[in-house]
Amino acid sequence: MVKHLDALLSDCVNGYRLTPDEATSLLKARGRDIFRIAGAADEKREIIAGDIITFVRNQNLNTTNICINRCGFCGFSRRKSDPDAYLLSKQELIDQLHRATERNVTEICSVSGLHPDYTLDSYLEIFKIIRNEAQKIHIHASNPMEVAYAGRKSLYSSHEVLTAFKEAGVDTICGTAAEILADPVRSIICPEKISTDEWIRIIREAHGIGIKSTATIMYGHCESDEDRAQHLSIIRDIQDETGGFTEFVPLSFVHQKTPIYQMGIARPGATGREDMLMTAVSRLFLDNFRNIQVSWVKYGMKMAQIGLMSGANDLGGTLYEESISREAGAVTGTYLDPGEMDNIVSDIGRTLRERHTDYSLL
Ligand code: SF4
Repeated sequence: MVKHLDALLSDCVNGYRLTPDEATSLLKARGRDIFRIAGAADEKREIIAGDIITFVRNQNLNTTNICINRCGFCGFSRRKSDPDAYLLSKQELIDQLHRATERNVTEICSVSGLHPDYTLDSYLEIFKIIRNEAQKIHIHASNPMEVAYAGRKSLYSSHEVLTAFKEAGVDTICGTAAEILADPVRSIICPEKISTDEWIRIIREAHGIGIKSTATIMYGHCESDEDRAQHLSIIRDIQDETGGFTEFVPLSFVHQKTPIYQMGIARPGATGREDMLMTAVSRLFLDNFRNIQVSWVKYGMKMAQIGLMSGANDLGGTLYEESISREAGAVTGTYLDPGEMDNIVSDIGRTLRERHTDYSLL
């Protein structure tokens, strides 16, 4: 691979489209090859996205942690009877939104547990409250799993649910619930979740009616490099077809308090090598994406900075009120001040700028 590698990377930087097999071999790299791959990804980032690193001032809104599912990688969900189960009241929801407007937040990111009593109307009510209380805020909410759940509970098709979401004010949806788009792995880590085909169908439907989304991968548990490459290939194909993804976000598995780790099914998350290569190969493989994001919540600040040197151009959000990763054991914190972001950005000679959800600069 060593002799071939320089030619492959050079071709890729100059527009050659990597195959899934080539992506797999890059993900398996060891030794100095890792730095060569990261270097090529950084070059490609410079060509595609320039030197500005962006972030969005956003706030999470997790209306409930009560969930009918028990995904093995999730430390957030609770049963109704659990002592720390919660369901926000309307007033608590409004209070959170008022805090968001006071903080000049431009995006509300709302994903929650699949509450057994939720119906399509429950979701619509939440979106209407957000729209009423924070009129100018971008609503980035729900994901294909919640869309399928709302449809299942109220006997509507996913297309009808998405249309209703849009009318209620949802601007974009989250590309989460993708985890790894390989059913054999999904059957281990999230057997109750929608299948790969359903995820793809709902994302296509969303893009088809003008609701853009993010795209994500959750890696570092029990998937293979081949599974990761297959996932990237599915995402690239959808983007070719719809152009509806705003960015790709590699999400490194936070393992500490999750059932699949505690039961010995998953390994203790990805290594630094894997994090670096996942970001770099995403940049090199996803030639139809402008934006590759590093998640400081999943990586921690130092690894996030390495990601920014390995092909990424976005730091995600300030994430006021983050709780999903924290419940799984993340130690990075629940909010990142733009001043701290600037420390790691200026340290590598780049410039930090605040953006909107659609990546237009403020
Ligand atoms: S990942 Fe989502 S659907 Fe799965 S258990 Fe956690 S909250 Fe529920």
